[in-house]
Amino acid sequence: MGEDTEIPLPDKEQNFNDWYNEIILRAELVDLRYGVKGFIVYRPNLATVLKQTYRLFEDALDEHGHSICNFPVVIPLEFFQKEAEHIKGFSGEVFWITKAGDSELDKPLLLRPTSETAMYPLYAYWIRSYRDLPLKLYQSNTVYRYETKATKPLIRGREFYWIEAHDVHRTFEDAVNQVKEDMEITIDVLHNQLGIPFLLMERPSWDRFAGAEHSFAFDVLFPDKEVLQIATTHLLGETFSRAFDIMFEDEDGTKKYGQQTCFGIGISRIAATIISMHGDNYGLIIPFHVAPIQIIIVPIPKKGKSELILEKCEEVYQKLKDKGYRVKLDNSENRPGAKFYHWELLGVPIRLEIGPKDIENGVITTFRRDKRERFQIKESQLIKTIEQLRGEILNELRSRREKDLEENIREAKNKEEFLEIAKNKGGFIKIEFCDGNKCAEVIKEETGGYEVRGKLFGKEEKTMGNCIICGEKAKSIVYVAKAY
Ligand SMILES: [Zn+2]
Repeated sequence: MGEDTEIPLPDKEQNFNDWYNEIILRAELVDLRYGVKGFIVYRPNLATVLKQTYRLFEDALDEHGHSICNFPVVIPLEFFQKEAEHIKGFSGEVFWITKAGDSELDKPLLLRPTSETAMYPLYAYWIRSYRDLPLKLYQSNTVYRYETKATKPLIRGREFYWIEAHDVHRTFEDAVNQVKEDMEITIDVLHNQLGIPFLLMERPSWDRFAGAEHSFAFDVLFPDKEVLQIATTHLLGETFSRAFDIMFEDEDGTKKYGQQTCFGIGISRIAATIISMHGDNYGLIIPFHVAPIQIIIVPIPKKGKSELILEKCEEVYQKLKDKGYRVKLDNSENRPGAKFYHWELLGVPIRLEIGPKDIENGVITTFRRDKRERFQIKESQLIKTIEQLRGEILNELRSRREKDLEENIREAKNKEEFLEIAKNKGGFIKIEFCDGNKCAEVIKEETGGYEVRGKLFGKEEKTMGNCIICGEKAKSIVYVAKAY
């Protein structure tokens, strides 16, 4: 502190990219000077948000019968080579270890780009009987992908933080239900705890996870009207269990292949979403559930009263801490204005200001970061008010972003309309579509990179007409967008 520059941030609405590049440095979230392309340093202000986000998802996974595990970061070549589609999908992105000490390795190792091929050979040892199922394991880890596109901090890197859950079920139906459970977990955390709206898409066949039968993804809309995939769940069926020989003896004595699913939660990307969606021209706005500091207390000094004020601040601090809040008392030498500026930049959701007048009147001056509103609450009602505020703040953040999302889903009735929206508006474009990869390629070429993101999951949207690209009878309504 004390080094904050009070030069305004770039305007977020006008120039989101400049705003993003500036806020991640100014709020001390990352350091980009590590010197290896696609690898960045997560500083405490960001790492703490990550830790809290991990906790939300890990708690939900634990509650739904998963167990945590840790597999090595290196994968032997012979494991990786077992499933053909998977190799095809990932081999271009793999980092290889070919040397150790002074000697070349006989067989190179790879850094996991994802852990199917690390975990499933062991699953084949562990699963013998239907009694061993379901097997539901996850790990919270980093994965490595040699991105050749331009990297962007937290959004596209060569190392990123995520959770991957890999489950094996007895029946296909159980696996389908697992995918639904993965969706429910994601919806609950994103919607109810982070205030992040999304579209849940079933990806088209050519854009599935390598080796999956069905892929479902959570797409969020960024302020620059581009979309980002932040979580996916895949129905793998028997693709991997056949390749890795994951078999069990069923109750009737027959040998069967396990029915598999995998679930990826992009923690780095969710952090990028929190920063980008909720932040404003004054800095970050971190949702209460993941805020490293949920409540900051700032004493308002007055000559001759400093002891009284500090005492009251400490009393309020202790009260909040006892209730389990992540609270901090900023007792530094800085003037109150500088403290306000600093904690607003860091996105602390609630600020309490305590001065002599407040103490005299039995009130606490309270500031809501989301609305930037200052008001007084009764000291006797402190805990009750904070409880109420945390809900109100989340609702406010979510409804702002829901409005954004709604306003940026547009229907295009024909190709001309479609190209016009793609060129001038961005966001999601809803079209009648033939489900053909060829038409998806046409879209990509003529719009400079728009992609068919898929069909909306969980809501049947009936087609009435023809594919707006080729004119053949439409098979589905799809959402098209430019993605990061
Ligand atoms: Zn078509």
